[in-house]
Amino acid sequence: MKYIDLHTHQPTANPEVLFVYNLRAGSQRPADLRGPYSYGLHPWDSMQRELIELIIQLKTDNQLFFIGECGLDKFRGAALTAQKQILEIQLRKAEELKRPVLLHCVGCHNELLQMKQAFHPKQYWVLHGFRGHPRLAEQLLKAGFLFSFGTALFEKGGKAGQSLQILPQGSWFLESDDSALPIQEVYRQAAALLHCKEAELKSRLYQNFMLKFAPSK
Ligand SMILES: [Zn+2]
Repeated sequence: MKYIDLHTHQPTANPEVLFVYNLRAGSQRPADLRGPYSYGLHPWDSMQRELIELIIQLKTDNQLFFIGECGLDKFRGAALTAQKQILEIQLRKAEELKRPVLLHCVGCHNELLQMKQAFHPKQYWVLHGFRGHPRLAEQLLKAGFLFSFGTALFEKGGKAGQSLQILPQGSWFLESDDSALPIQEVYRQAAALLHCKEAELKSRLYQNFMLKFAPSK
């Protein structure tokens, strides 16, 4: 069973790792790259509004596993109202193509909670790079969000680690994102925080990934 890297910006040649390569709208997929990818308009690119056309035109493809990363960022990109409009188009696209969504969220969890209540999506919404407080994690879990944890798990006594410890199995995944850290290290750290065997974690996350995210068409 392979390691799952739910969200990465750097492909690895390691055959032990199944990774979801993130493609930002407007950039090209490396020609030799096969396998799962996500496609979305990042909030940091939201000033280039014309890129949304690429999302609107996006077609189903069995290697397209997620729409994203997309989301909201209080500190970067276009004004929040514009970011919300751009995000809504992507959320609708995800429903149309029947793909889960990978969300980037900085300082906008309340906005996302409101959007989820208004939207009633059928697809999973996954908060990537989660580093929030366990209380926030609980609130988001109740609203049906899933989570993905990365390098924040290495912060000693950090909120990400505490959130990981209180969230139920099946509600979260692991990722390397834009760090140079191999995903195996993130698994090791998560296993240490949870006092469980790495092999057990590996098989659990693999099965959960296949169950929830492998596209049916
Ligand atoms: Zn990322």
